[in-house]
Amino acid sequence: MRIELLGAYIDALNMNETVDKLAGFVKSGRPHQVITLNPEYLYRAQGRQDLLDLVNRVDLVTADGTGIVWAAKMAGTPVPERVTGIDLMLRLCARGDYEGWRVFLLGASPGVAQEAGEKLKEQFPGLDIVGTHHGYFTDGESRRIVDLICEAKPHLLFVALGMPRQEEWIARHQPKMGVPVAMGVGGSFDVISGRKERAPLWAQRMKIEWLYRLVKEPSRFRRQLVLPKFAALVIKRYVWKA
Ligand code: UDP
Repeated sequence: MRIELLGAYIDALNMNETVDKLAGFVKSGRPHQVITLNPEYLYRAQGRQDLLDLVNRVDLVTADGTGIVWAAKMAGTPVPERVTGIDLMLRLCARGDYEGWRVFLLGASPGVAQEAGEKLKEQFPGLDIVGTHHGYFTDGESRRIVDLICEAKPHLLFVALGMPRQEEWIARHQPKMGVPVAMGVGGSFDVISGRKERAPLWAQRMKIEWLYRLVKEPSRFRRQLVLPKFAALVIKRYVWKA
């Protein structure tokens, strides 16, 4: 089932159901794009129809973060749980360990994707890391990277370029790449490689991961200003019905 939130359609699936659905995509061998939708993206998409259209064109959209889960509840169309990019990526890698899937990591600063790949291989020895590339390239260099991905024939392509660039990049190049599951994962490679810490479990459980990240990386403050604006929009639309 899909729910509609501020013009975006989101799959109301829990983590297990999402992983099963994506495993089906891999088995089909056909290209698919997945978006883990967070409040920052959805808020920005309110003023950018192209970003909203992109979400509504892809094959699966998850509720990435507490803000989206809360907003869906406010709208009277709850989703079962949050399915974040990094959690979904790790669950897919665990499945890929068992299934022997090929994985390509694109994005983050030079060296980080490779380090993340090594860490994944340690944890999931059955995964086949078929390629890595950093995320600091020009549009002109995209063709060469697309060729690398085509040659490596991954089942899973994780792209860490920050949103919405990673979503747009996948959408633009997926017709040529044809990867069964391609998804943007934001800062996940930084965390998996060990270069950045993820909020501890207690903070995740208290649903204040955003606060932890803000304290650790004060430079994110401007970005996080979007969260109260997003909340205000949700209340106006779904509580006051204005
Ligand atoms: N990044 C990149 N190329 C760029 C800009 C950013 O590869 O031109 C990477 C950056 O190094 C980081 C990720 O994209 O690993 C974005 O991380 P962020 O924490 O901003 O992700 P989000 O909050 O969007 O999930």
